[in-house]
Amino acid sequence: MSHVFHRHLHQTPAVAVAASGVEIRDSGGRTYIDASGGAAVSSLGHGHPDVIAAMHAQIDQLAYAHTSFFTTGVAEELGRELVRGAPEGTSHAYLVSGGSEAVEAALKMARQYFVEIGQPERTQFIARRQSYHGNTLGALAVGGNAWRRAPFAPILVPATHVSPCNAYRDQRTDETPAQYGQRLADELDAAIRAQGPRRVIAFVAETVGGATAGVLTPVPGYFKAVREVCDRHGVLLILDEVMCGMGRTGTLHACEQEGVLPDLITVAKGLGGGYQPVGAVLAQSRIVDAMSRGSGYFQHGHTYLGHPVACAAALAVQRVIRRDGLLDKVRDDGAAFAGMLEQALGGHPHVGDIRGRGFFWGVELVAERAGKTPFDPCLKLHARIKAEAMERGLLCYPGGGTADGRAGDHVLLAPPFIATRTELQTIAARLAESIEAATARIPRAA
Ligand code: PLP
Repeated sequence: MSHVFHRHLHQTPAVAVAASGVEIRDSGGRTYIDASGGAAVSSLGHGHPDVIAAMHAQIDQLAYAHTSFFTTGVAEELGRELVRGAPEGTSHAYLVSGGSEAVEAALKMARQYFVEIGQPERTQFIARRQSYHGNTLGALAVGGNAWRRAPFAPILVPATHVSPCNAYRDQRTDETPAQYGQRLADELDAAIRAQGPRRVIAFVAETVGGATAGVLTPVPGYFKAVREVCDRHGVLLILDEVMCGMGRTGTLHACEQEGVLPDLITVAKGLGGGYQPVGAVLAQSRIVDAMSRGSGYFQHGHTYLGHPVACAAALAVQRVIRRDGLLDKVRDDGAAFAGMLEQALGGHPHVGDIRGRGFFWGVELVAERAGKTPFDPCLKLHARIKAEAMERGLLCYPGGGTADGRAGDHVLLAPPFIATRTELQTIAARLAESIEAATARIPRAA
């Protein structure tokens, strides 16, 4: 009997014993291609020698020093590296231990900014339905993932949720992508006005939606229109790139492809590539300067902020990405991967949509394509696909509630940036077999 409090109390997962490159092996000797990098984490795959060497060197030199007494050379270097690659105007990186911590810090930073500049009446956050920003209470409150929120809803701080940017389901046939994006920005404008003047702190959104709705890419112009609305009302724009950032979509930050400058960006997963728990908030100088001129500190903190070994791992991961030209590879091979997925799955009667960028792809499943009708959620198609995929030596990241928080199924793919075209081809083929097997076993009436 396991004494580990696992995610599911009735199932103990397979025991992972070793991993190398794109593969991970369990104690039964079975090998899987890690086609989702866990949950879009393993950007360099497993066992990268440069990252491991950097971690070893850091542990030998200094494994931990509390940030209320010391900074460290490695944290300073990571800060420099992150600011160097961040959008114009970014001056600081606040270094935390994961995605939820990054989002919590961003929410509090945004709130404190307004307290510092004399607008304490701003107390509200607006985010989007079908979003995911983490599982701590603040991050869960802004998130729009219905089932994750449900049991905790009575104890969450209030947040307003507007429509996600979901062209597949919500763009009308009589509107262009630009008109659809503007309609959504107008909805945000109305939501801000409904709160009253100077009540809203920030609009929080994943630049490319990830876990809840299965890789929702924004329509062109959507984020520019959103930025204009935020500026009109003095509202901050927080882009959550915990999943889609740090190269996953082919640019270091996904917002580079949208032509917008967020006030705060959260990053995590791909930052340390799974070698250490690490995340960061990248802050524009005007936010930091206001705090600096005001109280002079950020009223926040955790014991493991800027952990030296986490910083060493993140720094090494980011240097390898730059040295090996992996962003170019993600863009080039990502385009090829799109073609492979289209070829393997595009004609499947239960594949409704294939969407994504770079090495970040979502496949949405439907019972019936013309009406985009989801499968009955009781069938748990996403869980069946996950099981079929594992049977075939494939790790993917399926989810349910894709369409509206309750119904709908998708599979998320986020292969390591080092995956070869042959491995990408194998991923597409194994996923097609898994989807075919899972949907073929669905009872006819469904
Ligand atoms: N934000 C986004 C966009 C995420 O996808 C996730 C995790 O999936 C989080 C925040 C939370 O990150 P973590 O699980 O590291 O706390």
